[in-house]
Amino acid sequence: MKVSVFSTKPHDKEYLDRYNVGNNKHQLTYFDVSLNPATAGITADFDAVCVFVNDTVDAQMISNLCKNGIKLIVLRSAGFNNVDIAAATAKNIKVVRVPAYSPQAVAEHAVALILTLNRKTHKAYNRVRENNFSVEKLEGFNLYKKTVGVVGTGRIGAAFSTIMQGFGCNVIAYDVVESASLKEKGIVYKSFNDLIKEADIISLHCPLNTETKHLFNKDSFAMMKKSAMLINTSRGGLIDTTDVIEVLKNGQLGYLGIDVYEQEADLFFKDLSNTIIQDDVFERLMTFPNVLITPHQAFFTKEALTEIAITTLKNITDFENGLALENEIKLP
Ligand code: NAD
Repeated sequence: MKVSVFSTKPHDKEYLDRYNVGNNKHQLTYFDVSLNPATAGITADFDAVCVFVNDTVDAQMISNLCKNGIKLIVLRSAGFNNVDIAAATAKNIKVVRVPAYSPQAVAEHAVALILTLNRKTHKAYNRVRENNFSVEKLEGFNLYKKTVGVVGTGRIGAAFSTIMQGFGCNVIAYDVVESASLKEKGIVYKSFNDLIKEADIISLHCPLNTETKHLFNKDSFAMMKKSAMLINTSRGGLIDTTDVIEVLKNGQLGYLGIDVYEQEADLFFKDLSNTIIQDDVFERLMTFPNVLITPHQAFFTKEALTEIAITTLKNITDFENGLALENEIKLP
């Protein structure tokens, strides 16, 4: 199939080309630009578009894709909040994704954020390189016996919960669907309000949708333990950024570790080191000593990239061959 691959980074091309071989080889054309109204015209010569997390595929875009003869939208991600599934369904365009390329990759990154924020290894690294061997202000806390609240116990939340149990944490969870296997492992489900009141560390692993947008806002922050840690490796829109800045300023929130940011599309995955950043909200976030931001890299492991490439290509092949699409996103 002729596939236009948007938001291509060198690793996308490297991994897709490595596995795009054999009888089912597809014609992949790589574009480093995102899929947006200015670039949508490119899709006219293709059968499918392959997109990533910050390509906005809303109803207007889907209408344009339909006019251009696109039959398939291929996500190289698990999350699909950036695609209007109802609009695609109405135009008979199939949408496929990579639902479980490596839950461990994301779960382990969430743990990395916790450990770095807590034990301040990023600060120690810089200090020691300048021959400053003082331990002042590097004090952390034991994870052992702390209460960790997991919001969303699907694939990533489950992997994360198990790791945190390994640290000797008391893991509590909130999900609209409770997992029997996690309950067997001793994880206790709570209401959302009870979870945020009890947890010392809260980690977000639910999708972004109309129910979860700004789940963390001034009201939820007010219920949290003073000085708790909030970790978000899911989607930026789960946290109201304006409200989180307020609780960081007044000390209500103790730590914030984020791999995702509400307005990340203008920043993340780009080298802007010689650019004046225009996003003042993001720049304010960066001023806090207790905030750690990574650029949507939680998925970025060799194992995950391999799985993303293999599943993406299989999704395209299955569509081309008229097979059942096991990774199709359907309307609920
Ligand atoms: P999943 O579908 O396996 O699990 C999501 C869980 O969230 C499910 O158990 C679901 O019941 C639950 N949920 C749905 N609505 C909820 C609500 N209103 N409140 C509480 N829980 C709710 O998904 P996953 O593979 O574990 O991925 C979770 C999210 O992680 C994705 O949606 C995506 O946004 C994000 N993600 C981020 C990265 C990254 O690199 N930072 C990579 C992959 C996925």
